[in-house]
Amino acid sequence: MTKPIIEVKNLAKDFDGNAVLKDITEQVDPGQVIVVIGPSGSGKSTFLRCLNLLETPTSGQVAFDGQDLTTLDTKRVNELREQMGMVFQGFNLFPNMSVLENIKLAPMKVKGTSDADATKRAHELLQQVNLDDHADAFPSSLSGGQKQRVAIARALAMDPKVMLFDEPTSALDPEMVGEVLNVMKDLANQGMTMVVVTHEMGFAKSVADRIWFMADGYIQENSTPDDFFAHPQTERAQDFLSKIL
Ligand code: ADP
Ligand code: MG
Repeated sequence: MTKPIIEVKNLAKDFDGNAVLKDITEQVDPGQVIVVIGPSGSGKSTFLRCLNLLETPTSGQVAFDGQDLTTLDTKRVNELREQMGMVFQGFNLFPNMSVLENIKLAPMKVKGTSDADATKRAHELLQQVNLDDHADAFPSSLSGGQKQRVAIARALAMDPKVMLFDEPTSALDPEMVGEVLNVMKDLANQGMTMVVVTHEMGFAKSVADRIWFMADGYIQENSTPDDFFAHPQTERAQDFLSKIL
């Protein structure tokens, strides 16, 4: 039996008494692609941020690679967090640095990677996201789809064990969604473990190993895409799907 890479037990999170996550127990196995879907405001971002402790859970456990993050000191949490790449809706690139510098920064600063090694790896990653010809460009000159692909390359530069995506295509013009989803699909095919919050149902159907449907503070359904889209079990999921499909 493979050991889960992420294990969430009885996770709860409230903000000033507002219970956003009520009781979530799930696990992610190495190489799995989990797509988290659910209505706006259902706690998807909060959940993702609890996985790397960007949000502190109110109660419960979040283990990464067998270590319960909620019991560790800040230094250790930071070390483990480096192994979880995160990509957000807004690309958060450093505007005053070139694409190449954006990608090299964390490996050099945090891991002590040499300039030469970081440069080599950055070019490899830029090839992977089809942007090697933009290595010296500044973020302001890039399209949204290009920025998001740089953001993915930057997260990959730390050699993460897991990639977390929070609606990575929601801020993009429609014609740029595909190029970002394709990069994510390639990554999934290469075996990367991924937890992806998205409203892109085509991606969910074709790439996810499991769909987690979140509503009212719980993961209401944990199914294969085939089962979820053909036979949603809960009224909440049926209602959600009837609105979006
Ligand atoms: P989703 O990503 O599914 O749209 P979120 O996780 O962003 O949902 O938000 C879930 C709920 O938690 C919302 O009601 C939101 O207002 C609330 N919330 C999220 N972050 C905070 C915060 N930092 N402080 C207070 N309330 C928050
Ligand atoms: Mg969100």
